[in-house]
Amino acid sequence: MYHDPFECRCVICHDYGDRAEADQVDLRVIGDVQRYGWHVVMVPEDDIGPGFAYTIGLAHTHGAPELAMFGLDVRDMHRMLNTLGERAAAGAVLESGQKHHDVTEHPAGIWTAEL
Ligand SMILES: [Zn+2]
Repeated sequence: MYHDPFECRCVICHDYGDRAEADQVDLRVIGDVQRYGWHVVMVPEDDIGPGFAYTIGLAHTHGAPELAMFGLDVRDMHRMLNTLGERAAAGAVLESGQKHHDVTEHPAGIWTAEL
């Protein structure tokens, strides 16, 4: 749950004392967030469960919620999350309850996930 006003807690904004331990994947994610504003992680379907994809950096760069999608082809979800990220970058407010059926032929919407 975010506190108001938003205070970014990512590793770019805060030194948690483990920056020297960042590996190539960590540095790639950080570089993408600094260069493009966010990074999309793709986890393909396997024997354990369906594929999913999620953003890292929308909150840091745009103060927008991070997004996750499940159950579709990971390349399609990557494209759709980038489309929604571009909307956030352009100033759109992404909120729970919104429908975004134009990013896919499947029903798509935003729902809050409590952590
Ligand atoms: Zn940050």
